[in-house]
Amino acid sequence: MADFNPRDCSGSRGAAGGVSSGSPAVVHDPKDASDQDASDKDMVSLLEQQRAAFLWVGAPNLRDRKAKLAGLRAAVLACRAHIGEAISADFGHRSRHETDIMEVMGVIQTIDYLTRNLKRFMKPERRHVALPYRAGRAWVEYQPKGVIGVMAPWNYPFSLTIIPLVTALAAGNRAMLKPSELMPRTSEVIRQMLADAFSEDEVAVVLGGPEVGAAFSALPFDHLFFTGSTQVGRKVMQAASHNLVPVTLELGGKSPAIVARGSVNARSIESIVFGKLSNAGQTCVAPDYALVHEDDLDIFVTLYDKAVSRIYPDGPTGRDYVSIVSDRHYDRLKGLVEDARNAGARIVEAGRKPEAAVERGRTIAPTLVIGADDGSAIMREEIFGPILPVRTYRSIDEVIGHVNGRPRPLALYYFGPEDADCAKLLASTTSGNVGINNTLLHVAQDDLPFGGIGPSGMGAYHGIEGFRTMSHAKGVFAQSRWNLPSLLRAPYGRLADWTLRSMFGPTAK
Ligand code: NAD
Repeated sequence: MADFNPRDCSGSRGAAGGVSSGSPAVVHDPKDASDQDASDKDMVSLLEQQRAAFLWVGAPNLRDRKAKLAGLRAAVLACRAHIGEAISADFGHRSRHETDIMEVMGVIQTIDYLTRNLKRFMKPERRHVALPYRAGRAWVEYQPKGVIGVMAPWNYPFSLTIIPLVTALAAGNRAMLKPSELMPRTSEVIRQMLADAFSEDEVAVVLGGPEVGAAFSALPFDHLFFTGSTQVGRKVMQAASHNLVPVTLELGGKSPAIVARGSVNARSIESIVFGKLSNAGQTCVAPDYALVHEDDLDIFVTLYDKAVSRIYPDGPTGRDYVSIVSDRHYDRLKGLVEDARNAGARIVEAGRKPEAAVERGRTIAPTLVIGADDGSAIMREEIFGPILPVRTYRSIDEVIGHVNGRPRPLALYYFGPEDADCAKLLASTTSGNVGINNTLLHVAQDDLPFGGIGPSGMGAYHGIEGFRTMSHAKGVFAQSRWNLPSLLRAPYGRLADWTLRSMFGPTAK
């Protein structure tokens, strides 16, 4: 990767606004990240600065928020090439197109969506006033919470750091970000891009691993937004609870792809391949495993192989196929397949030249695992790799029982006609989101909420839900000069009796 110079991608210093400027407090060298980890003192001091600036300057108005979003948009576009290079270097290999489509596009789309809708989202909302309190007025004001902490994972290291930031800024907040230590070059590009576009009392980036993450999650933010594993999510929520910091947890899990009987065809399979193999399956909403009618298993395997060959004509060493992020994850994935094989599952490597995978570092060929036992590790743990277990079923009720017998998934995918079975599946199962005849695309719908339920997450962002997650909904009731409540005070008399009778019925005393 070429040396990164922040001036190369500075579209916007000052454009994004801020009450003060200055170089970032925590300077990091990605080559030696551990020496440069943010200390507890750095983080506490950044939070204090941001909080003081928030209290001093107050909530930004619509124009200021739009200016910040425009500044961030310019900074992102100016850094686009560096982002692509850094992510590819951190992964081992990831195509520039994949980063542009799966990360940068989502960030720009979110900025544009929020810019377009911000005026409506910020508008106070008139609410109903019950008869005894008329002619008072009630409304809700959406106020920025203050300082938002954002913790991000490695798999979409840019968008999962920046989209929560965009949402926080649109809602009028300041933010401290903690990207993943597994993406040192990308984190450095993010840090420098933001240091160039914002003052650090507005947006600050702290770097470091689990220890820094633990200290970060214990800070008394006004809201903590965490994206990562369910296991770490538990710890983060526990740490936040000491300060009663509200949390949004965007977690993982096993999202099923259910294919209706007779619906295995080129279109449905290509969509499953797209969802499973984008980013080599290292996607929180990737279809984790497939549920296929027992009569359709053979055709599923044949069409999966064809679809992989068509989408990745050069096999797993081709330009568009992504590497596995670390040796640990590579070994874990290999282990899952070996365990399943040893337990009697059939392993099918799909597409062209799967054997060539070993020629490129940390690359795993697209793999189907057929007939793995429900109790096996591959059917219990989130896979997060290009491996698709396929399990057969006989009826839609069996599918519903299977889904409901497991932790609620982040996404559920259904392929087939939008008929009675589809309606039954939707009504009888609970998942973060649902995709019908597609995978992943629910996440790209900027007007839909995105978030899991139970072990797959808590709370949501995207859409108006994101704006509201990062806002405090403050209810206001304004009393009119002449009003009933002022007459309903002691000493109680005939008016109180009349009012109670009119509310509770003529027999009320
Ligand atoms: P992770 O939970 O290991 O790490 C996430 C963040 O937490 C990182 O910044 C990390 O430094 C920090 N961290 C690690 N240990 C910590 C600790 N003990 N205390 C506090 N912070 C700590 O997750 P990951 O491996 O980076 O990402 C993969 C996981 O994220 C998968 O489970 C995936 O499903 C999930 N994910 C969810 C979504 C979503 O939107 N729901 C999106 C992407 C990834």
